[in-house]
Amino acid sequence: MRRKLVAGNWKMNTDRGEAVELASALARHCEASGDVDVLIAPPFVWIEAVATAIDSSAVLLAAQNAWHEPSGAFTGEVSLEMLKEAGCGWVILGHSERRHLLEESDELIGEKVAAGLAEDLSVILCVGETRAQREAGETEAVLDRQLLAGLVGCEVESTSRLVVAYEPVWAIGTGLTASTDQAESAHAHLRNQLANRYNSEVAEATRFLYGGSVKPDNASELMRQPNVDGALVGGASLAVDSFVAIIEAAAGV
Ligand code: PEP
Repeated sequence: MRRKLVAGNWKMNTDRGEAVELASALARHCEASGDVDVLIAPPFVWIEAVATAIDSSAVLLAAQNAWHEPSGAFTGEVSLEMLKEAGCGWVILGHSERRHLLEESDELIGEKVAAGLAEDLSVILCVGETRAQREAGETEAVLDRQLLAGLVGCEVESTSRLVVAYEPVWAIGTGLTASTDQAESAHAHLRNQLANRYNSEVAEATRFLYGGSVKPDNASELMRQPNVDGALVGGASLAVDSFVAIIEAAAGV
């Protein structure tokens, strides 16, 4: 039985006070580890303050991105070691905004995933097709390409620290959500690919999150699908009430 994971990606939102307030409220809600894993990914600059706010709780802390080299002339970048030292145990990599707005390639994301796992961090690898790719019938080919390139340096021993998020680009921040059939079918396909890449034990143990306009009113039906093991939430993770409602939906399915 895979434990559900609800992850909040705050993107480039919150000021310092809001970040600490939101994190503290979640920490109060998740004082002890419940039936669901809860994770938040604040902007880099609030990571240490948020780490302090959630210190004595079960809330997990992720960075939204990282650079794969350990140090050096990479102006504006933040290394995985720095993030670890600041308190992160997790990192989100390959988010669609990094792929499409910042033009990160499949190869770069693969290097980052390998470096993150080598640094003993847990990694959420995001994959997802654009609307045009879906309409052209290319969804599975795109998911295969992004998944396999993302895992190129991921050895079987590291897969226990891997989570995959299926986030159709057309559903992120748009209010459009994949239907339960679309989400389940993509997740089942990805799980199958993971079995081909590693083995069926790894495929069965790995968690697949759905992301794309998850809200309190659609979270339960999405997470009730057999291959949907949680959610990666953007907008609805910025308010305590809606994020807690999604966590409770995950606990209730
Ligand atoms: C995301 O940022 O990963 C995301 C899914 O955003 P939203 O929930 O706002 O669509």
